[in-house]
Amino acid sequence: MPFVYSFGDGKADGNATMKPLLGGKGANLAEMTNLGLPVPPGFTITTEVCGLFFAQGGWPSGLQDEVDAALAALEGRVGKKFGDPDRPLLVSVRSGAAVSMPGMMDTILNLGLNDVTVEGLARASGDPRFAWDSYRRFVTMYGDVVLGIHYTRFHRVEEEILGTRAFNDLDSAELKSFVMRLKAVITDAGQVFPEDPREQLKHAIDAVFGSYNTHRARYYRKTHGIPETAGTAVNIQAMVFGNMGGVSGTGVGFTRNPKDGAPGVFGEWLPNAQGEEVVAGTRTPAPIREGEAGEGQSLQQAMPAIFVELDHMMRRLEAHYREMQDIEFTIEQGKLYMLQTRTGKRTALAAVRIGVDMVAEGLIDETKALSRINPKDLELVLRPVISPAAKKKVIAKGLDASPGAACGRVVFNSNEVQELYERDEPTVLVRLETSPEDIQGMTVAQGILTARGGQTSHAAVVARGMGKPCVVGCTDIHVDYGRELFYAGDTVIRKGDWITIDGGTGEVMEGKVEMLSPQSEGGYMEKLLGWADARARLQVRANADTGVDAAKALQLGARGIGLCRTEHMFFQPEALKAMRRMIIADDPQSRARALQDILPIQREMFTELFEVMRGLPVTIRLLDPPLHEFLPSRDEDVSDVAKELGIRVDALHARLEALEEANPMLGHRGVRVGVTTPEVYRMQVRAIFEAACEVARRGIAVHPEVMIPLVAMPEELARLRADTEQVAEEVIAEYGNGPEYTIGTMIELPRACVLAAEIAKHADFFSFGTNDLTQMTFGFSRDDMGKFFPDYQRLGLLPESPLSVFDTIGVGQLVQMGTERGRSTNAKLKVGVCGEHGGDPKSIEFCENIGLNYVSCSPFRVPIARVAAARAALLRTKRYWR
Ligand code: PEP
Ligand code: MG
Repeated sequence: MPFVYSFGDGKADGNATMKPLLGGKGANLAEMTNLGLPVPPGFTITTEVCGLFFAQGGWPSGLQDEVDAALAALEGRVGKKFGDPDRPLLVSVRSGAAVSMPGMMDTILNLGLNDVTVEGLARASGDPRFAWDSYRRFVTMYGDVVLGIHYTRFHRVEEEILGTRAFNDLDSAELKSFVMRLKAVITDAGQVFPEDPREQLKHAIDAVFGSYNTHRARYYRKTHGIPETAGTAVNIQAMVFGNMGGVSGTGVGFTRNPKDGAPGVFGEWLPNAQGEEVVAGTRTPAPIREGEAGEGQSLQQAMPAIFVELDHMMRRLEAHYREMQDIEFTIEQGKLYMLQTRTGKRTALAAVRIGVDMVAEGLIDETKALSRINPKDLELVLRPVISPAAKKKVIAKGLDASPGAACGRVVFNSNEVQELYERDEPTVLVRLETSPEDIQGMTVAQGILTARGGQTSHAAVVARGMGKPCVVGCTDIHVDYGRELFYAGDTVIRKGDWITIDGGTGEVMEGKVEMLSPQSEGGYMEKLLGWADARARLQVRANADTGVDAAKALQLGARGIGLCRTEHMFFQPEALKAMRRMIIADDPQSRARALQDILPIQREMFTELFEVMRGLPVTIRLLDPPLHEFLPSRDEDVSDVAKELGIRVDALHARLEALEEANPMLGHRGVRVGVTTPEVYRMQVRAIFEAACEVARRGIAVHPEVMIPLVAMPEELARLRADTEQVAEEVIAEYGNGPEYTIGTMIELPRACVLAAEIAKHADFFSFGTNDLTQMTFGFSRDDMGKFFPDYQRLGLLPESPLSVFDTIGVGQLVQMGTERGRSTNAKLKVGVCGEHGGDPKSIEFCENIGLNYVSCSPFRVPIARVAAARAALLRTKRYWR
C-alpha cells in the first residue's frame, strides 16, 4: 500500500471512506476534490506511516522516495518549485487524525520560506509586506510546533514590537526586522532554524507525528475513548494566501448554527488573514453572514459574490454528507478555496434541532437522527439557565459561545482548576484565550470565560464539544494573570471569588446567581423523544417523592414512578416531630398515637402523587433508612429536640445511645424495621391505600405498587407481604371498593439475587436498587468511598465510579442472575432498575440486553433514558446503523 496519496486541483487518489488510512482531513480533502470543489493540491501521508514512525523511531524505508515524488508532482501541478529563489512553492503541513481531535494538534503554514525565498515571494507577488508577513508567521509556527519553543516567548516579542498596533499596521521593513527578532528567539533558545525547505519539511512532518503522542493528545483520546492505534495522517498542501491583501481573507464556517441548530451558514472570517488566526482568538473576527454578531464587516457585505459561492459550496457539502459540516476556507485575491470539511461539533441543543430538521428536509431518516444523538448530551439540553427572577449583577458581556449557565470560583490556570476539582470546588476558568494545554482544566471546570477570541476560537469550539457553558471574546474584562485578578469596569474579581457566567447570553455576573432547568423550545426535543419512544422496548419511569417531582417527571415523559422514597416525606416538620415521638416512645399507646399523627401527612402526599400520575404505576417504597436518622446527632440539637418533644435531655441521649449503630448501612433498616416494628409499615400501607381509595373514588385511575426494601430472605418478604395485603384489604373493605395493586421488593443485596427464585414467589415485581447492590457487592460504603476511590481511579484500577457507571461485569451479573432466577418461578415477574444507573445510557443498554421491563431514574434524566432505551433496542435488533 502506498504511503502517500495525492488530492486537489481536480484529481484525488482517495475518498471519504478512507478516513482510517488518510485521516479525517485527508479523506475529506480527497472527497471535496472528487466533488469538483476548489481544493489546493497536495498529498497525504497515511496514518499507517504514523504507526510505523513510532514503532521504528523514524521514517519507514521508502517514505522519503514517495514524499520526494509527491512533492515533485505537486511542483508540476502548481508550476512552482520548492525552494525556488524566484517563485517558491510554499506548503502547509497539517495533522489529520483518523478520529478527529479538534483543537488538539498542530499546523504549520508557509513552509518553504527562508531568507532567500522570502525575497522571491516578495518579487513574485509584488507585495513585500505580504511576503514578510507570511515569513513571520512561519518562523513563529515552526519555532513553536517543530522546535518546541513556548509560543509565549514569541508573543512577548510581538507585544514589545506591536505595542498598541496590529500586524496589519506594520510595513515590510518593520516586518522584516520583526522576523529577525523571532529568529533571535530561536537562537537564544539554543535551536536552529533550518534554511533548507526540505529539511524544514522533514522536521515538520516529524513534529506532526510527534504531536499525536503529546500528553494533551493522549489525555484527549483517553477521555474520548479514541484508540491509541488510530494514528494521525499528515497533509502537505500548496499554500493559498488569505493574507495577500485586497480581496483576501480566511474563515471557518458551519452549515448550520452549531449553538442552536438554526439553518443557514454560520461562521466567521477575517479579511487579510491566514489560517489559524480565526481559531486562535488573537483577532476578533467578523461574521460570515450579515446580521450575526462579530466585529467588522460581514463576508456577505464585503464580498457578496464570494459569499454566494461559499454558501452554495457549503450547502452542497452538507447535502453530500447528509450531515452538518464545519469547513475552513481561504480567499486568495478573489478566488475561494476550500481547505477542510468535517462533521461539525455542536451543542446538544443544536444536535436535536439539526436531527429533526434534517428528517423534515428528507436528508436522513428518524433512526439516523436518533443515532446521531448522544443520550448523555441531552442532559445538556436541560442544562441550567439563569432564573429570570434572579437578582444578578452583570459585570461584563462577551460572546455567547456555548449555552448553559455555570457558577464557580474564579481560577486563572488549568492546574488550579484540577486542584479545586479534587476538593469538589466548582470553578470557572478565566483566561485571555485558551490553548490545547488548557484542555484538562476545561474538562473539569464548570464554565470557561475568555477575554479574547470569537465563536470559533479554541475556547468556544472545545467548550461546545464538551458541552460546557462558555463566554468568549469578553473584551469588557481585563485579566491580570500576575496579580491573579480581573477587572470588569469598577469591579475587581480575584482568584477564588465566585462568578456566574451565562453561555447563552454572554453575560458575566458577580457571585452565585440562581439557576433554573431550561425548557426545550420549538418542539424539537419532543419530536425526537417521540421517535425514541416508538423504538424503545424498555419503559422509562422516574424516581420522584413529591407531586412537584412527579409532575416534572411526567412532563419529561416518564411512564410512571419507579421509586418514591417515603422517608423523604418524613422530613416535613410536622411529620418529623411525630416520627421522633414515635421513635422515642416506650409504650405501644404513645407509639400508636405518634403514628396516627403521621398517617394523614403521608396520606396527603400519596394523594398528590396519585393525582398527578393518573393511573400510571406509582411504586412506593416503605421506610428504608434506620430510625436514628430521624433523630438529632449534634449535642446542641439534642437539647432543642428534647424540649420540643417535652422529654428530658438525658432520656433522649439514652435513646440515641440505644439506637446507635457501628455500621448503619448494614444496620437496622429497610425490611428489618418492618419486621421488628410492624406498625410503621402498617401505617404507611394504610396511608397508601386510603389515598388510593380516595382518589379512585373521585374517578381518577390509581395504580399503586408497594415495595419492600432491603430484603435478603424470602421469609422476610412473605411476612411483610401478608401484613401489607391484610392492611390493604382492610382499607379497601372500609371504602367498599379499591384499586388493583401489586406488591414487590427491592433487590439490593447479593443474597437476594442468589435466592431470587424463592423471593419471586412472594413478589409481583423486582426493582433492583443498584446503588445498594453496588455498595453491598463491592463492600464499598456509598458514603465513604470518596476517600479512597480517587486513588483507585488514579491507579487505573477502576476508571469510573461503579456508583455512576454500572459495573456490568460484576454487579450486572447479579442483576442478570436475579432476573433469570426470579422469572424461573414467576413468569409474570416485572423487573426494573431504580438505582441511579437507571439514567445512565450504558447501563440502560445492559438492562435492554438482559430483558428488563423498565428503568427508573431522576426526572431530569428521563429524556436521556428514553433516547438511550431506543438506541439500545435498535442496537440489539441491529436496526441501528443502516
Ligand atoms: C438503591 O439502593 O439503588 C436505591 C434505589 O435505594 P436508595 O438509593 O434509596 O438506597
Ligand atoms: Mg437502597
